[in-house]
Amino acid sequence: MKFVSTREQAPAVSLSAAIAAGLAPDGGLYVPEIMPAPRQLQAGDSLAATATTLLAPFFAGDMLEAELGAICESAFDFPAPLLPLATPGDHVLELFHGPTAAFKDFGARFLARCLTRLRGEGGRPLTILVATSGDTGAAVAAAFHRQPGLRVIVLYPDGRVSPRQAHQLGCFGDNVSALRVAGSFDDCQALVKRALGDVELQAQAPLSSANSISLGRLLPQTSYYAHAALGHFAATGQALNFVIPTGNLGNAMAAILARALGVPLGRIVLATNANRVLPDYFGGGDYAPQPSVATLANAMDVGAPSNFERLRWLYRGDDVALRADFISTSVNDATIREVIARRFRDHGETFCPHTATAVKVLEDLRAGGEGGDWAVAATAHPAKFESVVEPLIGQAVQVPQALQELLERPAHAEPVPARYEVLRERVLGG
Ligand SMILES: *Cc1c(COP(=O)(O)O)cnc(C)c1O
Repeated sequence: MKFVSTREQAPAVSLSAAIAAGLAPDGGLYVPEIMPAPRQLQAGDSLAATATTLLAPFFAGDMLEAELGAICESAFDFPAPLLPLATPGDHVLELFHGPTAAFKDFGARFLARCLTRLRGEGGRPLTILVATSGDTGAAVAAAFHRQPGLRVIVLYPDGRVSPRQAHQLGCFGDNVSALRVAGSFDDCQALVKRALGDVELQAQAPLSSANSISLGRLLPQTSYYAHAALGHFAATGQALNFVIPTGNLGNAMAAILARALGVPLGRIVLATNANRVLPDYFGGGDYAPQPSVATLANAMDVGAPSNFERLRWLYRGDDVALRADFISTSVNDATIREVIARRFRDHGETFCPHTATAVKVLEDLRAGGEGGDWAVAATAHPAKFESVVEPLIGQAVQVPQALQELLERPAHAEPVPARYEVLRERVLGG
């Protein structure tokens, strides 16, 4: 299978080339030249086996084709359980059982295992540059840690991520360096963009990024939706509907792709925080990117959802058809707090602020008479956002084992000014 750009101004490339490049040279996002036919999928397979079957057509003819099974086995060695909620017919798909306790572990681990194989033996290491305001950097650092032929430099705004997040970014060492930048997240992102566009630097030290537009992160995320929906369908004969906490649309886009590949998924509803670009569009407005606003669900503070261009491509630019297929609802911070406190008080359920947006949207759908079986995607463990969650529920959230192990390691991040020359030096200096 070949991959083309959503902007149609770049040559078709192999999957490996699309994964290595991230963004297409015309600034578009890579998409499959044709959507594969629906897959024959089986309930009862492991998550890794489901992923291997589902992703096979995308890997057909690629140099990674023979490795797909091994990549899936190694990347998906933790579960994604679908569990009932207290309210009948409602479920939660827990995507936070990986090393950094957020769904981004699935995509980051898969991408790392693809890239390390593409680098092969010997040769110059590939440097992955990541600007992060929290979750992405930790998942990428954990996934790439000690992967041969790869090196990661994480940049984060000093003092503007939570202490627990800062610790996670700085605790790896070896081939992962953390730079705490005297500046904002936008400064970090500008430094990374400049380095990725620096042809002279790239000639000396090949660079790549690992952001949420990468096919190497998007494709593997289809597998947990497939695994959960197939199991649910086999047990009940019902298609499972989803509410997904949404920022850059990476996670939701994966659910939409899984449905297009024949997975028995019903409706897909997008929950956002106070950043309203998607609710406004699906409500009938133009697609109008905005500067992001800061919320309690900070991993969803996105004013220009980067995967929107892929979604429009899937609908061939037909905004009417696209709007007809989705609901998107915005949930503000006061409501996020209310939901976290009330669900704990009434049902003993603990949610992170991102997952709470989806819980609220599902509650509203039920109140409006919606039937069927639904699941919310739980995108992070509440212990990652303890400073929000613990005061609301009046007790400590137990930290999952994997996260605890990271927090017990020593952490180190180098303080640097927000100056390009300094980053360049770090890239060249090793
Ligand atoms: C990244 C993230 C999201 C948003 O996912 P997108 O793929 O950007 O839509 C939601 N919740 C958590 C906890 C995240 O880390």
